[in-house]
Amino acid sequence: MSALFPFHGGLKTVRHKTESNQTPIQAGILPPRLTVPLRQHIGAIAKPLVQPGDRVLKGQMIGQPDGYISAAIHAPTSGVVSAVDQQPVPHPSGLSDLCVTIESDGEDRWIDREPVDYHRLHPSELRQTIRNAGVVGLGGAGFPSAVKLNLAGRSEPLATLMLNGAECEPWITCDDRLMRERAAEIVAGLQIMAHLLGPAEVLIGIEDDKPEAIAAMTAACAGTSYEVRPVPTRYPSGSVKQLVKLLTGRETPVDGLPVDVGVQCFNVATAYTVYRAIHCGEPVISRVVTVTGQVHRPGNLEVLIGTPFAELIKQCGGYRDGVERLIMGGPMMGFALHSDEAPVTKAANCLLAAGPAELAAELPVLPCIRCGACMDVCPANLLPQQLYWHARAKEFDQARDCHLFSCIECGCCSHVCPSHIPLVQYYRYAKNEIWAQEKEKQRAEQARQRHQARMERLEREKQEREAKLRQKAPVRTEVVPHLDPLISVPSPTKGEGSGQVG
Ligand code: SF4
Ligand code: SF4
Repeated sequence: MSALFPFHGGLKTVRHKTESNQTPIQAGILPPRLTVPLRQHIGAIAKPLVQPGDRVLKGQMIGQPDGYISAAIHAPTSGVVSAVDQQPVPHPSGLSDLCVTIESDGEDRWIDREPVDYHRLHPSELRQTIRNAGVVGLGGAGFPSAVKLNLAGRSEPLATLMLNGAECEPWITCDDRLMRERAAEIVAGLQIMAHLLGPAEVLIGIEDDKPEAIAAMTAACAGTSYEVRPVPTRYPSGSVKQLVKLLTGRETPVDGLPVDVGVQCFNVATAYTVYRAIHCGEPVISRVVTVTGQVHRPGNLEVLIGTPFAELIKQCGGYRDGVERLIMGGPMMGFALHSDEAPVTKAANCLLAAGPAELAAELPVLPCIRCGACMDVCPANLLPQQLYWHARAKEFDQARDCHLFSCIECGCCSHVCPSHIPLVQYYRYAKNEIWAQEKEKQRAEQARQRHQARMERLEREKQEREAKLRQKAPVRTEVVPHLDPLISVPSPTKGEGSGQVG
């Protein structure tokens, strides 16, 4: 067995996997209406390609990527577009965003799907196909995968392509079920990624509490050089930098990326969507979601993007008594939804109906006693109490200097704090404030540039007008005074240019 390299900090959490991982993935129902956000990824929002009244087919592109870091969005079923407008989306802010609403026609009619022989494509065409299929990181990050699959400009070849099947959040099991049931397809997607990146080695990290997934993935990798490496069950081993450390021993720089140390990492579900995009000609229009907690039949559903969360709850037998909060993404790193009418997005890996048993009791917040427990568990090697002081005092520059943006919001520090300080809430607040200030600065700078451009344009137009006037003006003939001594020239009158002051 290859050596593992433990990361600093982390926690042993109480596992709740068996609540949802005992039954196969079920197909989700086709809802009558789907609300598809045009921003389900990191980067620029997709540009809408449809308008109300348009008929669409399942898999048709309805939003095109706007710029390099952006992603395509597709119709999850066939039907008629009823709106392109602001709708509530799953986001901690509870704010709305631009969405395409589709009334399903019940036929679920596909576009023509064309599988691709990727060996025949130029790498740039293959990346473009993946980009057009709307493939983004399905582990929660939502970063456009085509961008990560392009290492042009790097002088060093890639050392390690890593597949993340750790799934360390205590309640989530969608990747576990996907690996058990569709390991061959995941490995086929991984082969396409390896074809593009040409790594020296391919490693697959899976927490050792998933023996069935480890066995299935090991069997699917037979005949390849890919290596499945079980890692100890310790939260947050599924966080990218921590998994890189565990499997390779390499430390990603505090403000850097794994690729800086020669590693590119993708989630297992992302590899699965790459497989579907290339071998089946299908864009990303669905995903597997764990529905767990206080519902009657917890499990994993493969649902269309845009399905309201309420439909998932219904399919899992409805709420049990005592649900206090609906959390998207698990109790450690997830966030509370404002409504169960919000739609499933590409990043939605888990829906937890949380009652008192799933939520930490809200205890009174006490002053920080500088015990250092938060520092001991921080997997990012930060100083959480210092970050807390700066965030609380609104000293955002200092918080930044303490690497606020390297905080992965894992919640380990809050979990162990004896003073029950909601530390992660302070970090999120500080990050949001800094982003808002930066946006404001950008807006002010854009306004300044617009004003300057306008003044320059006005000045240019003025000069052009004056030049035209000069061209149009009649040529004036200079009158040479007749110096006939017999004609007397009148002398200037007083006050009319005589030079005398009256
Ligand atoms: S764990 Fe809590 S009390 Fe202890 S140093 Fe950190 S913030 Fe302060
Ligand atoms: S939430 Fe941030 S500061 Fe707290 S332990 Fe995790 S990475 Fe460290």
